[in-house]
Parts: sequence; C-alpha cells; structure tokens
Amino acid sequence: SCMAKRKIITDKDPTLRQTSRPGERVTPRIQQLLDDMLETMRAADGVGLAAPQVGVLRRLVVIEVEEDHPIFLINPEIIYEAGEQEGPEGCLSIPGRSGIVRRPMKVTVRATGRDGKAFEMTGEGLLARAFCHEIDHLDGKLYTDIAISMEDK
Ligand code: ZN
Repeated sequence: SCMAKRKIITDKDPTLRQTSRPGERVTPRIQQLLDDMLETMRAADGVGLAAPQVGVLRRLVVIEVEEDHPIFLINPEIIYEAGEQEGPEGCLSIPGRSGIVRRPMKVTVRATGRDGKAFEMTGEGLLARAFCHEIDHLDGKLYTDIAISMEDK
C-alpha cells in the first residue's frame, strides 16, 4: 500500500496526555494508519511510535528494533514482566532530550497484529523497553514521568 508520513506531535500538545480507545476490527483504514506510522517512525529514525504521537487516540503501536522487521501492535497488553534494566530512553515527541529510565528486562505482550490475528511476543532488553514505552503512550504516560534523571542531547 501507499505510505504517507504524518506529523509527530510534541509533549506541548495535551493529546499526548489522553487515554487512547481500543482499535476496532482491523480495517484497511487501520492498516493504512499503521503503515503511515511505520513510515513516519522510520523517517524520524525512531524505534517505536504510538498512534497518539500522530494525534490519533487509538491503541496502535509500531516498533522496529531490528531493521526491516516492524512489529505492529493493536490493543497491546503487557501480560508478563520480569527482571529490571536501567538505561537511556528518548521519545520522538520530546526532541532533544533523553533520560535514564528503569524498565523490566523481559516483557511479554498480547496484541492483535496487522493481519487481524492475535499473538503473543516476548521481548528482552531494548524490545522490552520499547513495549513499555509505547504502551505507556496509549495511557497518556511519558517516560519523563518516571525518569531517574534527564539530560539535553
Ligand atoms: Zn515516546
């Protein structure tokens, strides 16, 4: 399909603080939005993007920590987490800053995929961090809320 870049909103926009609604059935419109989110994230050199960041309050996430292996999550839920990691985190909606954030080392999510099928996936390290960071966006939470320390990049 044809992908289009969308505008990423910043933390000055109150939309980022709102709770997103569950995605409906996987329609072509939802798939188009997911594709647009992927294009937008790649253009911004990010590893994750949540729909609220493009101004759409739906529970949709795109993550790509491994090149050319995008993960699309519709209505993702964390069903298991273990361990702990502390490391740097940034956000496309908070340009020019980064922070140290404590997250679980291992996270399992349950979600619906772009193909409409339910699946579970376990991520460790950066992927676990991305799951947590992006799912937080769906509940209006930003990493700056829980960062141990912040710095300008
Ligand atoms: Zn973010």
